Amino acid sequence: MKLNGTSLNTLPLNGNGNGKHYHHHDDEGFTDLLTDEMGESHASTSLETPLREDAFQLDDDLKIELIEKHFREIMNILGLDLTDDSLKGSPRRVAKMYVKETFSGLNPANKPLPTLFENKFQYNQMLVEKDITVHSYCEHHFVPIMGRAHVAYISSGKVIGLSKLNRIVQFFAKRPQVQERLTMQIANELRQVLETDDVAVIIDARHLCVSTRGVNDVHSSTVTAAYHGKFEDEATRQELLRYIGQ
Ligand SMILES: [Zn+2]
Repeated sequence: MKLNGTSLNTLPLNGNGNGKHYHHHDDEGFTDLLTDEMGESHASTSLETPLREDAFQLDDDLKIELIEKHFREIMNILGLDLTDDSLKGSPRRVAKMYVKETFSGLNPANKPLPTLFENKFQYNQMLVEKDITVHSYCEHHFVPIMGRAHVAYISSGKVIGLSKLNRIVQFFAKRPQVQERLTMQIANELRQVLETDDVAVIIDARHLCVSTRGVNDVHSSTVTAAYHGKFEDEATRQELLRYIGQ
């Protein structure tokens, strides 16, 4: 079976497969340095998650099977004994976790359907859902990003079920991410779903790639914000920040 001109047994080990690379250099050491730098600066290249066109040609079961196989190979290369009772189930566990949980937000089929209600009682003030748990994954190091999101909107006549706000945050978090993109993707989805530009998203999160490796800083957290419409006004923004206790 061929996929985008790449044979399946080499696919997961062949990088992003779209022919786009950040660096071209003959000197491997220099390339490593640039690759590290790209990761440490956590720069992202686009608002859309970089997905290939054929991302969903394989079904989940086949993805799990292939990831299991390749993760087993990673463990093998590391020298781990996969006949050990504690380790032998890990490749399958990791593969299922990637496809069904950690990265389930890559698949548009898993996007929560927005249930909207008419704003019958004409509540036209700000609504803030704060301290929404964010569990995402750094796309540069594939380790967790953990934190909280605060989302706010001012109704244009439509209101959304409160738990849907959590689900939208979770959907976009369950992807390999950079925090800036995650913040903007949530804000754009809310603007679209709620049919209003008056939306704000703030995320405060810790990156395990910063706290457990690299600079090993366990105390720092990263705050990102997207303010749209009325939230670009200083007074509205200050009101939001008061509600979330900042
Ligand atoms: Zn990272």
